[in-house]
Amino acid sequence: MKKVHTVQGPIDPDQLGFTHTHEHILCDARMTHRTDPPTRGAYMLLDDRERAVSELKKFKDLGGGAMVELTTAAWGRDIKVLQRISEESGVHIVATAGFYTWPYIPRHVDERSIARLADDLIVELTEGADGAEATAGILKSAIHFDRIGGVEEKCLRAVARASIATGAAITTHTPGTRRQEIPGANVGMQHVRILREEGVPLDRLVVGHTDEHADINVLAELAEFGCYVQFDVLGKTHYMLDLTRAKLTREMIRRGHLKKILLGTDRCRRTELYEEHGGVGYTFILDTFVGMLEAEGVSTSEIDRICRVNPGEMLAYG
Ligand SMILES: [Zn+2]
Repeated sequence: MKKVHTVQGPIDPDQLGFTHTHEHILCDARMTHRTDPPTRGAYMLLDDRERAVSELKKFKDLGGGAMVELTTAAWGRDIKVLQRISEESGVHIVATAGFYTWPYIPRHVDERSIARLADDLIVELTEGADGAEATAGILKSAIHFDRIGGVEEKCLRAVARASIATGAAITTHTPGTRRQEIPGANVGMQHVRILREEGVPLDRLVVGHTDEHADINVLAELAEFGCYVQFDVLGKTHYMLDLTRAKLTREMIRRGHLKKILLGTDRCRRTELYEEHGGVGYTFILDTFVGMLEAEGVSTSEIDRICRVNPGEMLAYG
């Protein structure tokens, strides 16, 4: 049977419980490799391990089971620390192999072949990473610009080959903001084109950040191809109202794509996570968004399918 590969080892998909498929527990935006690090404002930074445990416990107390932690190696991932946080909080954590956006891609990537990069990712997925015996359990491709190209495309092709070798899913960061006016509202279709070239089955692709800027027809088409469509910046209302996200979810279900929806909140700043800084924590879906879905007519069994079954089907391989 296929397993979900958590930082504490492989588990059966039905052991995950209620799962957020795009979160951060430890990340550090100061770890840039191609631009100056940020110095002011609420940049992406979560570095308090004790606080991570207490925030995850709040999630667990409300019925939470698992988180997919999408911080890559070059901007703060430490699987040994994630193992301890998982143990102490009782929340399953799946860690990530792959790449974040252009500023966070290490310079050595420029020199290495796609095959070599893919081999390194396969080691992280099958043998261990960050000096731990625990492995990553998902791959990541992140795109900073409005077109996939350059070193980001190289990273994507390495991720694609590691996915074919292992069966691990590929989750994506897409630049879906209105700033860039991308046709289709995100680069999901560009991911589809390149993954098809590489021979990756499209049910291994999770198109992320689709609720920064959404075109429902494009999202439905991605789901028809077999891709997962992830609404994963829930609670970040500067992109879109959560009510709109609830309506988008209901419409995806109405169009027959219940099995292709995933949810997350992408907490990566203290201001998003910590209540005293105005954050909504890791509990936003359980204590608020589930109620918004119900108010839109989404049933309890449909919510269970989205939050308890789909994550396991997406994550399981091997
Ligand atoms: Zn993220």
